[in-house]
Amino acid sequence: MELANRIKTLAPSATLAITALANELKGKGIDVIGLGVGEPDFNTPEHIIEAAYQAMKEGKTKYTPSGGLLALKQAIIEKFAKDQGLSYEPSNLIVTDGAKHALYLLFQTLINDGDEVIIPAPYWVTYPEQVKLAGGVPVIVETDETTKFKLTPEKLQRAITNKTKALIINSPSNPTGMTYSRDELAALGEICLLHDILIVSDEIYEKLIYDEEQHVSIAQLSKELKSQTVIINGVSKSHAMTGWRIGYAAGDKALIKQMTSLASQSTSNPATPSQYAAIAAYRGSQKSVEEMKLQFEKRLNLFYEKLMEIPGFSCVKPHGAFYLFPNVKEAAKLTGYDTVDKFAEALLSEAHVAVVPGTGFGSPDYIRLSYATSEDILVEAAARIKNFVETKMTSR
Ligand code: PMP
Repeated sequence: MELANRIKTLAPSATLAITALANELKGKGIDVIGLGVGEPDFNTPEHIIEAAYQAMKEGKTKYTPSGGLLALKQAIIEKFAKDQGLSYEPSNLIVTDGAKHALYLLFQTLINDGDEVIIPAPYWVTYPEQVKLAGGVPVIVETDETTKFKLTPEKLQRAITNKTKALIINSPSNPTGMTYSRDELAALGEICLLHDILIVSDEIYEKLIYDEEQHVSIAQLSKELKSQTVIINGVSKSHAMTGWRIGYAAGDKALIKQMTSLASQSTSNPATPSQYAAIAAYRGSQKSVEEMKLQFEKRLNLFYEKLMEIPGFSCVKPHGAFYLFPNVKEAAKLTGYDTVDKFAEALLSEAHVAVVPGTGFGSPDYIRLSYATSEDILVEAAARIKNFVETKMTSR
């Protein structure tokens, strides 16, 4: 069968692939520790599950408007006002099947063939693929430890051409956990305004931010920046709701209207019980959000310390999300692997720890480890990796 050209170059999600492989090994009875997964290990808070259950019992099991329930949009509007001081109307919002689908709808609606989207690397695996699917050209701008993996105004300026349509900013970042400060965002924003570049601000890890840092959205810096920005967010990470598939985009009304038309012709609406759950997530108590964040912060500190004891590992300590992104080029060399990809493969097959190679994030010298798992498992994982590296080093 001859498949469509647009699908032939599509790379499957590297993070989902490693999780599938780890599960396959587990199925064969091998004791694999999976640090590939990008989701909280906590269950969804009880009051949210209860709200979905009640909604279903009341018959709220039918289609909703394509852009989402008005009541949910209102809950999101209240959240934006409370958290960022941002004011939106329902027509500025579309509720989607997870934040991933908000991005998909956005790129399909925005991009013409050949339009360029600037994506700082390391990036979340999905961005370049979605841009390509829409006929766009991902312009990857590499960053490294020296700028804490953050895009600088100089680098942004150099990447801009007359085809540049948008810039993606992801703070806190997957995979590095880095967060942009107000001043850093203002400097990037100024350049985007000057060149009329749309800012796609993926804020899905907004609530997972540590060391007393504050999340800042580029849209809250000025009225002009707000009109130039589409915010992407959702409840997946903040409320441990990855499986419910509720995300949203907030931005220009004309853009949101067309994204909503596309949703109406593709998915109809996000799952109705999930939308009721998301209302409860935003309107109900935020205590569990705070508790999960404290757990993540404790795990970060513990796991970071343990990883830094491993020869050949170096890592900028993150302030957000639930990933560590160490540079392990040296560790690969010390253990006799010429690429980090091969080192990561051996970690899985020999040490039975699944991590995601940095190649999928556009940074091949690194690996991503998720610390969304218990402290005991993290200690055991770090011990396995350390033992693997030290044994290989001495046997060479
Ligand atoms: N953006 C980033 C940076 C992510 O890491 C993820 C999930 N891995 C998403 C968006 C998508 O989240 P959702 O589950 O809401 O689709």
